Amino acid sequence: MIPFGDLRREYSVLSRELNKVIPNVLKSGWFILGKYVEEFEKAFADYIHKEVYAVGVGSGTEALHLALVASGVQPGDFVITVPNTAVPTVSAISFSGAKPLLVDIHPDTYNMDPIKLRKRVVKEKRRLGGKLKAIIPVHLYGQSADMEPIIEIAKEFELKVIEDACQAHGAEYKGKKVGWFGDYACFSFYPSKNLGAYGDGGMILTKNPEDAQKLKMLRNYGQEKRYVHKIKGFNSRQYIKNPRVIKPIEVPYGKHVFHLYIIRHPQRDRLQSYLKQNSVETAIHYPVPIHLQEAYKDLPYSPGDFPTTEKVSKGILSLPIFPYLRDQEVETVSNLINRFN
Ligand SMILES: *Cc1c(COP(=O)(O)O)cnc(C)c1O
Repeated sequence: MIPFGDLRREYSVLSRELNKVIPNVLKSGWFILGKYVEEFEKAFADYIHKEVYAVGVGSGTEALHLALVASGVQPGDFVITVPNTAVPTVSAISFSGAKPLLVDIHPDTYNMDPIKLRKRVVKEKRRLGGKLKAIIPVHLYGQSADMEPIIEIAKEFELKVIEDACQAHGAEYKGKKVGWFGDYACFSFYPSKNLGAYGDGGMILTKNPEDAQKLKMLRNYGQEKRYVHKIKGFNSRQYIKNPRVIKPIEVPYGKHVFHLYIIRHPQRDRLQSYLKQNSVETAIHYPVPIHLQEAYKDLPYSPGDFPTTEKVSKGILSLPIFPYLRDQEVETVSNLINRFN
């Protein structure tokens, strides 16, 4: 069986190191915030950029929620994001009392399409005026959204930019790590993310020290924050050579960190069951776009409104990818796919 992910492999490699530090946390008797979180905040901020401040919170969702609150988003306001994302991007908007507005993705990168964004912002600004508050570009699957035009639009129309970098620790845009570009950037340390904790964890980054202070007051104390570093970097070599398979592209202006490895195939469901029969676990990120989710049926959207997202969602398949996936397993998966037609 080739699993989609397996955190036990990681623990078996890192256990000596972890077993040395975890008892220190336990002995300290201090499990919320405290000096380990502070050290981690500093290390993570330094890793992203010299000029950013980090505020640790309970999860990526909470990071997004607090960033929205810090941006001045209030009930009745509107926030723009994409329909091709993890549901928590949109849950966070709902938590803030604002309504999500969706903009379709680019078919090659699967990320927010800046041209469609501009059209939408021009239109909505006229309708909503000051109630249109922020844009949340998502760096999906580990690849940066096209930040330059997005920030230009935000400046022009006085909107805040909150990067959803929950899948993109270490990804780069034009030579700089994501997390530096927006007014705020949000990261998740959910166990299966590129940098995973043993439990939930999240982080907000901002270049503004006063915003960081404000966020420290806003953050709540609901969750444990015993961060544990996971080795970075993925085995992203894939030997797939099947002409019917579309492999992920790496945009020329960015560095992809492959949180997920997404392929597309016109007969995705048949490919998925074929892989399952051959003991390969896969997943779909995400099978149902936000605007077609039961939970968001109150949004004013219908099937067909975001054709790129809808088309992509029917063909995508996430292959196993994690730091301790073995080369042999990558080869097995690739060979199986190459034999499929
Ligand atoms: C995981 C994820 C989140 C939420 O992070 P949690 O830590 O699970 O709350 C938000 N947005 C995206 C794109 C994610 O992948």
